[in-house]
Amino acid sequence: WEAGKLLAKEHPVEADLVIGVPDSGTVSAMGYAEAAGIPFGIGLIKNRYVGRTFIKATQSSREIGVKLKLNAVKEAVRGKRLIMVDDSIVRGTTSGLIVKVLKEAGAKEVHVRVSSPPVMHSCYFGIDTSTRKELIGAQRKIEEIRQYIGADSLGYLSLDGLMKATGFSGERFCTGCFSGAYPIEVPREGKRYVFEKR
Ligand code: SF4
Repeated sequence: WEAGKLLAKEHPVEADLVIGVPDSGTVSAMGYAEAAGIPFGIGLIKNRYVGRTFIKATQSSREIGVKLKLNAVKEAVRGKRLIMVDDSIVRGTTSGLIVKVLKEAGAKEVHVRVSSPPVMHSCYFGIDTSTRKELIGAQRKIEEIRQYIGADSLGYLSLDGLMKATGFSGERFCTGCFSGAYPIEVPREGKRYVFEKR
């Protein structure tokens, strides 16, 4: 909630409705809406009948899966300038498809807001954030990412903002995938493992 509020302060934009990408972006979207004084609404719903068959190895089937997994609520988004909040952009493929789905449903504008900084480094501690080659935050500038996902504007929460939202100082957390500074030394074997695994 707090991250969404700070995101609204860092990246304001005129819009009619704030929506969250379910479920990861919902709470931050509510915080954004409150701080911006823009109504919060449900613009995307999960298609619960698809099950988990969307998780496939190849990117093309994953793309199809995203389309099937999330439906836009046409009545809510048609003709609106939307702020779409999510918690991260990793490869960019998913965000791009969601923007497309919203525009196909009649959204006039889609402004993407992310409640964390760009993911620029791999995680060596168990979270699957992909190799740097696959991370769009490591490969492209923000304006290039905006174009890639087809958004009308794009804003990420700063690392300072993220730390403020937690209420603790950065030293108490790992921020490795955002900053490249890991709390413990990453053994060479760890790096090699991450790269060999993929
Ligand atoms: S913050 Fe640290 S532990 Fe968490 S995903 Fe990023 S690198 Fe991994």
